[in-house]
Amino acid sequence: MSEFIPAAKPIIGDEERAAVDAVLASGMLAQGSEVAAFETEFSDVLLDGRASVAVNSGTSGLHLGLLAAGVGPGDEVIVPSFTFAATANSVALTGATPVFADIEADHFGLDVGDVASRITERTVGIMPVHLYGHPADVAGLGELAEQRGLMLFEDAAQAHGASVDGRRVGTFGTFAMFSLYPTKNMTSGEGGMVSTGDIEVERRLRLLRNQGMQKQYENELVGFNARMTNLHAAIGRVQLTKVLRWTETRQANAAFLDASLEGVVTPPVADRAVHVYHQYTIRVPEDRDGLAAALRDEYNVGSGVYYPIPNHRLPSFGLELDLPETEQAAREVLSLPVHPSLSQGDLERIVTAVNTLAKAGA
Ligand SMILES: *Cc1c(COP(=O)(O)O)cnc(C)c1O
Repeated sequence: MSEFIPAAKPIIGDEERAAVDAVLASGMLAQGSEVAAFETEFSDVLLDGRASVAVNSGTSGLHLGLLAAGVGPGDEVIVPSFTFAATANSVALTGATPVFADIEADHFGLDVGDVASRITERTVGIMPVHLYGHPADVAGLGELAEQRGLMLFEDAAQAHGASVDGRRVGTFGTFAMFSLYPTKNMTSGEGGMVSTGDIEVERRLRLLRNQGMQKQYENELVGFNARMTNLHAAIGRVQLTKVLRWTETRQANAAFLDASLEGVVTPPVADRAVHVYHQYTIRVPEDRDGLAAALRDEYNVGSGVYYPIPNHRLPSFGLELDLPETEQAAREVLSLPVHPSLSQGDLERIVTAVNTLAKAGA
């Protein structure tokens, strides 16, 4: 059988290796000048200049961002249930309560009407996820937040470079977080970048990631060690020079799949939105898991289900809620390979496999 096509594949080349070697040779391994340079370059390339603060993971970025924005015990933050658990976990870790809202069917982002119905006197913020690299409805959610005096926080873990009306995600909220985990659109090994346009939030983020210190041994508040290392930043800086090109390849791969797939629901893109296809996610109304198994067993094609269990039903939250679009998405979604390492032959094999299996199943 032909070689296995994985659902995701980090691309690490000689330049990343050389950059890590140079840091190792310098002896300056922990947070230092590489991290500072990575922050500036990230802001320039992906955030129209908005400030960035590097941390040791995306999850730390959400947690510290919420703390820096003043979220804590007694507060509620509205989040989707259809996302990776880190979204709600970060809210819970501040002592606040994540309140789960439903999504809209087309782009899997928070549904503005459902969010509005869950606002209480304790609500302080709304945290949409730009799931799969498609922007959430930041215009609608931003307007709602403004009307009700709430903050907007963006989980942009999967959406480096995505935009709405020409404006990049990560520039809409009080803060936004980008993950740099290996399977994301770019990586630093592990890592996260938090963007903010609020200088007080930025100051607190820088304190919180470093034991509450700006000046050594003059701790201003109780903080964490959530620093990024120079080694990780060196990888990230190289990846940053490639991410926009990789994104174009993801978009071209997605366009090919859109034009070629039959018998499944391909992912629509909202008007004026730019999708960066962290995942290319189709809906399979009947027997999604059977299709995934057959793709693997009969065609050696990998795929992924992100995410099979809505967060509110995970043992860690254990809630019974009525979120019909969330439940349906969890049953139907299947992400096909779309990463920039795919060859034209790989793409054709994916199409043949899905079309043949979808026809046979119909
Ligand atoms: C990956 C991811 C995170 C967490 O990022 P890490 O860097 O793995 O900590 C949070 N939210 C979403 C939607 C993610 O995909």
